[in-house]
Amino acid sequence: MKKLSCQQCNGQNLKAKLATYPIMMGEKQINIGRVSVRECLDCHELMPAEKGQEKIGIHYKTGGNVSLGNKSSA
Ligand SMILES: [Zn+2]
Repeated sequence: MKKLSCQQCNGQNLKAKLATYPIMMGEKQINIGRVSVRECLDCHELMPAEKGQEKIGIHYKTGGNVSLGNKSSA
């Protein structure tokens, strides 16, 4: 099993957690809630885990128009 390291600082103190992950959709920033990420405990960089990347990919495909139960109009 290959050891994961931080893409920012190469640190290996990564912690899996669910976090809000912001993505840029054109000029709009969209915060995706509860994405599986690994947080670097050294520099606090958030890196989406495989599951999280799937979720992010869905948002890109749908242009952020995924109904998550709470509709907020900008
Ligand atoms: Zn780091």
